[in-house]
Amino acid sequence: EEPSAAAAVPQCGDPSLTLLRRVGVVDPASLDDYRAHGGYTALRRAFALGPAGVIREVTDSGLAGRGGAAFPTGRKWQATAAQPDRPHYLVCNADESEPGTFKDRVLMEGDPYALVEAMTVAAYATGAHKGYLYLRGEYPRAQRRLEHALAQARARGFLGEDVLGTGYAFDIEIRRGAGAYICGEETALFNSIEGYRGEPRSKPPFPVEKGLFGKPTVENNVETLVNVLPILTMGAPAYAAIGTGASTGPKLFCVSGSVARPGVYELPFGATLGELLELAGVRAGLRAVLLGGAAGGFVRADELDIPLTFEGTREAGTTLGSGVVMAFDGTVPLPRLLLRIAEFFRDESCGQCVPCRVGTVRQEEALHRIAERSGAAAAGDVALLREVGRTMRDASICGLGQTAWNAVESAIDRLGAYE
Ligand code: NAD
Ligand code: SF4
Repeated sequence: EEPSAAAAVPQCGDPSLTLLRRVGVVDPASLDDYRAHGGYTALRRAFALGPAGVIREVTDSGLAGRGGAAFPTGRKWQATAAQPDRPHYLVCNADESEPGTFKDRVLMEGDPYALVEAMTVAAYATGAHKGYLYLRGEYPRAQRRLEHALAQARARGFLGEDVLGTGYAFDIEIRRGAGAYICGEETALFNSIEGYRGEPRSKPPFPVEKGLFGKPTVENNVETLVNVLPILTMGAPAYAAIGTGASTGPKLFCVSGSVARPGVYELPFGATLGELLELAGVRAGLRAVLLGGAAGGFVRADELDIPLTFEGTREAGTTLGSGVVMAFDGTVPLPRLLLRIAEFFRDESCGQCVPCRVGTVRQEEALHRIAERSGAAAAGDVALLREVGRTMRDASICGLGQTAWNAVESAIDRLGAYE
């Protein structure tokens, strides 16, 4: 059996935690244990507030999407709720596949009822009666625990035709991915649920208007949804007071690589990269940190004062993405690492549009040539990489192609790769 994700939570049981406070503390199979630790108080508050009241709280909290794009959650919910077309759907994006990202797994394995409750709140607020939980295929333990949680919630009236005796009907179906990174892109995910190839659709129209089965759909990441519970239990003003003005609330960070204690860390937005790495036990000889995963970018070891906020990373010319912090010391050969990232994008491109289908191949070929020369770039290689990278960024249909050059570009511009 695969190792438990709870082992990857160094701060497990710390009473100051908000999102992880039940992970490693409650029995993930027990609905009673969940309720004994505050479970289902948020849903009761949601029913007392009514759908518009819930959306107001989420909007006032400043919650922004935790999947990587940081879109304002309240705006998304409001836009879906306002659509006259019916039915509305809720989709939880649990296809966590960004290299170096494992926070959603920890939440789903350690606190599965929290996601079930949060999905019920989101569906109630936006007028959905059916929710899909699209789960990464490589997370069998999360699947077992979520299936058990769904069955228990149904049996005890927390899901079904008459949720908590309010007359509101809602149920959740789990769909498993089959190992394709692109199915984490929201519209490819919809196609996958509908039984088609996992290929992204052009946006707009955005899913809030035309999403799953062409109907208004709220699509949220696991961590985003779980944040709704403390927003409702502590109230929007208290939640918004955590973090910075522009990045509110707590954030999960996935720390891996050259650190003594890799794992998932929960911190309020605003801590610096250096403070997080201190907690994780940064090793001597740190050379670079990959922020935001393969779709993110490298920063140098002398840039550890970057604040871990959406605005702080943007100002520093990088991205927080889904919270990946991968530390590299000098023992990792940079040309090999970049080649590995390029192979990943070439492999995972769905092939639908030319800039990405061809660009990811050309990028990999150039990096392969450079790696074979032990990192020495021939005249023209870097210029070709830049040209291909710009074309992918400007002309690709979806985020995969648009970000496939980010890591390589940052390695050239910030780390001086191939100089
Ligand atoms: P995006 O900026 O296109 O959209 C973000 C969200 O906001 C989407 O749900 C979109 O529908 C919605 N949206 C945007 N504009 C809107 C509008 N005008 N009206 C209504 N809704 C609107 O980004 P994206 O392509 O969905 O996601 C890219 C991000 O995904 C990247 O930042 C990357 O870090 C992240 N990512 C995460 C993982 C992971 O495993 N967590 C994997 C791959 C990529
Ligand atoms: Fe597919 Fe890449 Fe085009 Fe996205 S950018 S649609 S992954 S080919």
